[in-house]
Amino acid sequence: MSSSEPAVDDVLDTPFFLRWLTAAATSVGREAARLTDLDSAIGDADHGTNMQRGFAAVTEALEKEPPGSPGAALILAGRQLISKVGGASGTAVRDAAAARRQGARRRRADHPAAAGGRAAGRGGRGGAARRRRGGDKTMLDALLPAVEALGGGTGSFAAAGEAAEKGALATVPMLARKGRASYLGERSVGHQDPGATSSALIVGALAEAAR
Ligand code: ADP
Ligand code: MG
Repeated sequence: MSSSEPAVDDVLDTPFFLRWLTAAATSVGREAARLTDLDSAIGDADHGTNMQRGFAAVTEALEKEPPGSPGAALILAGRQLISKVGGASGTAVRDAAAARRQGARRRRADHPAAAGGRAAGRGGRGGAARRRRGGDKTMLDALLPAVEALGGGTGSFAAAGEAAEKGALATVPMLARKGRASYLGERSVGHQDPGATSSALIVGALAEAAR
């Protein structure tokens, strides 16, 4: 853990989650065009728009009904993402909220991104996630290394951000095995996965929120 970063357990309060989701929304908004560009190469050119729409709804909802607990913040975010984006990302956040509620007695294990990664490991679309497997050129290629870098609370947000970024870059040479990109077969090779890229932005926002 870097000396400038507070201990993970010290920052997991409601304001931290609000800062995290807000920072993630800013980051996704800033990079929306790039995400859509990446999705235009191996998908249907909507990932940036999808994520921006979802996170704009998250920030609006956080302002309208400020949540009173970390779990409430995640549930609210998950609901917005599910209804406005759909698919794996919303489900992961919602399941993270449930994991956090259950995890009150397991402080280290209920780290938000760890819970998100576990959730992604359980759910997700089309089975890539169910097997908790990286290497299929999906968001899991950024999320799973991030969760590992957090080490169940012994790692740092900075390390998680770096691991997610590295994981997203590592999708470039991969052959897509899930989602729309998989229809391209070999033609999916040589492009960075949009979902892994947005996931790295969201994980990267953890360190911003901890500052
Ligand atoms: P859509 O594919 O419906 O257009 P998006 O463009 O918003 O949705 O998201 C695409 C991203 O979703 C991909 O880059 C990939 O990371 C992720 N994804 C697709 N299928 C799966 C899957 N089965 N498991 C996990 N992530 C997936
Ligand atoms: Mg798409």
